Amino acid sequence: MTHKGKTEIDEILIRVPLQDVIARETGTRFRRRGDRYVGRCPFHADKTPSFTVFTDNVPRYKCFGAQCGVHGTLLTFLQEWKHLSYSEAIEMAAELAAMPLPAFDDASSPSAPAVQPRKPWSEPPIAPDVRIPKPYEPMLLHNPHTKVTYWSEPSYVHVYRNRCRQPLLLVVRFDQSDGRKYFQQVIWRPGAITGYPAIAGCWQQLAFDPDCARPLYGGEDIPCWQDRNGTRLLMVEGEKTRDAAATVLDIPTNGILTLSNVGSTGGIGKTDLKPVLDTFFQTSNTEKILHVTIWPDADLPARSDGNPADDTMPKFVRAWVAAFHDALESEGIEPERLCIASVNPPSDRKHGWDLADAVDEGWSAGMIKRWIADNSQTLRPACQSV
Ligand SMILES: [Zn+2]
Repeated sequence: MTHKGKTEIDEILIRVPLQDVIARETGTRFRRRGDRYVGRCPFHADKTPSFTVFTDNVPRYKCFGAQCGVHGTLLTFLQEWKHLSYSEAIEMAAELAAMPLPAFDDASSPSAPAVQPRKPWSEPPIAPDVRIPKPYEPMLLHNPHTKVTYWSEPSYVHVYRNRCRQPLLLVVRFDQSDGRKYFQQVIWRPGAITGYPAIAGCWQQLAFDPDCARPLYGGEDIPCWQDRNGTRLLMVEGEKTRDAAATVLDIPTNGILTLSNVGSTGGIGKTDLKPVLDTFFQTSNTEKILHVTIWPDADLPARSDGNPADDTMPKFVRAWVAAFHDALESEGIEPERLCIASVNPPSDRKHGWDLADAVDEGWSAGMIKRWIADNSQTLRPACQSV
């Protein structure tokens, strides 16, 4: 890291209220003590407020919990909590500070962004005899970074599977009694850990390898979609939305494969699209066009009025367009064989409204498909409307 790069990054960090970001991301409630903010640590099961954010210089946090001791800046927090790479954390910090990206020296950063194709997902599937916890069942969790092990009960358990339906990883949500809620990606690691000599293994928080592709959420439905000769994909934000939409838009009736990605918008570019692209394009019919519809959450400020210019496009849409573009290129598939459109969600719904909310409102498959047909804009050519 050059001195110039460091100063520019510090300027970004100084402009972002770290306690507000941590509060928003983790639900931690802070009390102000002079130029410090004190709250319960989001990284361990903290009964007393052990976690302090210092704001006197470049904002930093430190947990004074005896077994925890996490510490760092906004960049560390984003890497640890949101599983971002170093360069993604800088990108997000610059966005939070509403500042342009610094011209930092990639080569000397701890993980320079990869330009070569990503390594495939290499974690083996979770063994079939491992019990996948159900919501509100206690599960033993271990954070290999902080070495903290604890029992917790998830309110949601989302299972990522490959096309053979083997579980690959879980995304679990925890709702705490004080209203805090957070998500974690976990994977099963066999073997005992310190303090728990008798266990066969436990769920460990997973930090993604920044150079490694991440599985799609919904990949187990690819074979069914293939059998149905489906030509449409629907990309939505978040596992809960995907589950709700996929249930209503069942593949045998609708031929639509609904998918999402792990790790918020920053994870889209790392998602492994190969299983779905290989399935679609390596079939005998070389004329088929793949239709991708991207449905972002309703967002503020109000969306574009039908103008697909880049600067008005939601980041979620932009990220998927780029991810499909890159995947086609690396698979050697003609770009004309892909059509991408984005949906404008209803403009009168609350911030964050998504297809899970639509399903709660009673939207049927027909209503969803009609909304897509009437409220989409084509972002990549080669589309005859269907
Ligand atoms: Zn802690």
